[in-house]
Amino acid sequence: MILSRREFLRLGSVAAMAFAAPFPLKAFKSTRLPEGFTLLRGTIGIYANRGGTIGWLMNSDGCAVVDTQFADTATTCLSGLEYYRDGQHPSSGTRDFLVDVLINTHHHGDHTGGNGVFRPKTGIIVAHENVPALQKMQAQMRGSDADLVYADTTFPDEWHIDLGTEKITARHYGAAHTGGDAVIGFEQANVVHMGDLVFNGVFPFIDEAGGASILNWIQLLETVAAERDDETIFIFGHGQPGMGVTGSVADLLAKRDYLSALLEHVETSHAAGMSREDAVGIASLDGFEHYISFGPRLSLAANLEVAWNEIVGE
Ligand SMILES: [Zn+2]
Repeated sequence: MILSRREFLRLGSVAAMAFAAPFPLKAFKSTRLPEGFTLLRGTIGIYANRGGTIGWLMNSDGCAVVDTQFADTATTCLSGLEYYRDGQHPSSGTRDFLVDVLINTHHHGDHTGGNGVFRPKTGIIVAHENVPALQKMQAQMRGSDADLVYADTTFPDEWHIDLGTEKITARHYGAAHTGGDAVIGFEQANVVHMGDLVFNGVFPFIDEAGGASILNWIQLLETVAAERDDETIFIFGHGQPGMGVTGSVADLLAKRDYLSALLEHVETSHAAGMSREDAVGIASLDGFEHYISFGPRLSLAANLEVAWNEIVGE
């Protein structure tokens, strides 16, 4: 059968309509989140792939993102957000930016490495005032700072923005995991992104060169736990499989207890005349046998080394 061009086009459009009619594309899109995306509460969710957990908010008034993982995963995250936005809020497609505000919880490469991918589609990038210099220092230690994209908006203690009905806050409580950590609150939804202030069930990285303080980290977790409540959903930078990257006040206090146990072990070992090598060489810490390690810098021995330096001295 040979069809004229007009017949071919007509047949094509009829076939397309017949196929499309039972599943209108817009309705199909709006109910579905792309792979890797999870909705937590209201209009707030997470994106988990490789690197620190990304938090996001998508409402009819705009979009906020917390952290950017790496360039490749940020690309996937960004296209997923765009797809989701087009399904949820098709009229938002005319807005200047896909992401109104991007906040970095701290400077580490697995949380800021995708900043450059987000940059062209993002209004402002926010971080604690110490973050740009720490980003630069870390990159120089690795050989190059050429590809870094920094925050254009920084703050010393606290910063906030309203996005429709949601109020987003960023607070610095002093040095902890690094010298430039921020806790990000979605105040209306009662969801809080902790960045790497909680490695859930995992030996944390304690960035000594980046200005970390175990003592203040303990204080921070206690303060944030007291400021929030039993309904608060916390997002964590990392977590062991089975424990996940979200949790409650109890998980913050469990991490506080771990950090306290590190300092206590070092204190008592030192007071008993134990050597540094013996003190940091223990196989496990009572009550934290279930912790797992993501690498040599994130191990009990590495944590105890930093604790020894902080309590006893180098
Ligand atoms: Zn980190």
